[in-house]
Amino acid sequence: MKVLKFGGTSVGSAQRMKEVAGLVASRGKNIVVLSAMSGTTNTLVEISEYLYKKNVDGAKETVNQLEAKYRRIIDELYSLPGSKDKAMDEIKGCFNYIRSFSKDLFTLFEEKEILAQGELMSTAMMTILLQEMGIKVVALPALDFMRTDKNGEPDSGYIRQKLTALLDKFPDADLYITQGYICRNAYGEVDNLKRGGSDYTASLIGAALNVDEIEIWTDIDGMHNNDPRFVENTAPVHELHFEEAAELAYFGAKILHPTCILPAKLNNIPVRLLNTMQPDAPGTLIYNTVSGNGCIKAVAAKDNITAIKIKSGRMLLAYGFLRKVFEVFETYQTPIDMIATSEVGVSLTIDDERNLSRILDDLRKFGTVTIDRDMVIICIVGDLEWQNKGFEAKALDALRELPIRMISYGGSNYNISLLVRKEDKVKALNLLSEHLFNSDSKD
Ligand code: ADP
Ligand code: ASP
Ligand code: MG
Repeated sequence: MKVLKFGGTSVGSAQRMKEVAGLVASRGKNIVVLSAMSGTTNTLVEISEYLYKKNVDGAKETVNQLEAKYRRIIDELYSLPGSKDKAMDEIKGCFNYIRSFSKDLFTLFEEKEILAQGELMSTAMMTILLQEMGIKVVALPALDFMRTDKNGEPDSGYIRQKLTALLDKFPDADLYITQGYICRNAYGEVDNLKRGGSDYTASLIGAALNVDEIEIWTDIDGMHNNDPRFVENTAPVHELHFEEAAELAYFGAKILHPTCILPAKLNNIPVRLLNTMQPDAPGTLIYNTVSGNGCIKAVAAKDNITAIKIKSGRMLLAYGFLRKVFEVFETYQTPIDMIATSEVGVSLTIDDERNLSRILDDLRKFGTVTIDRDMVIICIVGDLEWQNKGFEAKALDALRELPIRMISYGGSNYNISLLVRKEDKVKALNLLSEHLFNSDSKD
């Protein structure tokens, strides 16, 4: 058994939904995880924003527009009038539920209920479509098994137990379908796994059932060697180690949600990235084996980074300085991404500025503090074990014409991070592709 997850664009229109239905119908008894149709979660966020601001008319208008779009899609999606009626009833129920929140106090709890409707609608529509095709499809409600604990972490014992019990109830199914992204929290309230979290759902289900493979189907043929939104002539990387994929996902390769890696890695389940629009393309296989022999495989970029430098005369030969600095970030629950040290100071980066002014106040007790905002981490990934020679020179040579604020290597065998200005990001990504992947000297 496999888990097949389809993202928003893969189910973004009636035509795409039909293609996905054909695809999953031909691949055997698997668990299909669906995102909301593309644009839906953003629109649901917009509706919630109107409701927070008590602009009920704005909310109603946006709900009506979204409902009209779904009605058009349903009109096109089914051949049998019975299926169409059933789907119309389903989405009517969801939209009326969304409308019911315009009356009372609107809080985070109501917002989460609204955000859950996107995945509930896409899976309901797909289930009816598969039934119309004569397939014995069983819907597994994510809200009945996907759950987080008091720390907001997935409750893997609960997920495994509930999911196994559900599957045991329907042994004769041709395939199973469920919602990505949505879950309940430890108190039983509707919650979600954060934006882009359907990949995480797929991986959690895969780990719970110890499946053969987790397939993430999207709108591109695998993890490319650079960000296709900013660089032309990118190419898919056919194999990646989990650690390499984790670095790329965390540092900006949107194709994969970073949380998706760990459950698969820990359970040794390969993750394959595939293209719904080109189902026969090999895509990218992510697993526990290192390949590449010293080569740089891909680069990614993470925006909105703030660099903080703390310079202390007293750091000279002092111990305990770094501990004090890190404790400040721990106190304000702010993760650090990159670090570079010298004898007299330390530079580090954060992407969460919520507690920045308090962090800076505390750091000033230990030295002179300066910050650089609007920076970007460029992450260079591959089999970069330190005994392999030359990859650092290649990376830095590619960027020789750009100012670089920080350099970090040695934390892992898979990554070099460089910090550049926001205005240099696109140039940096393009230079790296030109020098590392498209030139004659390519690895
Ligand atoms: P889905 O809706 O299927 O979850 P996403 O939009 O989350 O899809 O991810 C797919 C998108 O990720 C691609 O369309 C592409 O623009 C973007 N992307 C960014 N970096 C990369 C990369 N290195 N390789 C492939 N796609 C990438
Ligand atoms: N629908 C959710 C989102 O747009 C989850 C996902 O697509 O992965 O963020
Ligand atoms: Mg995604």
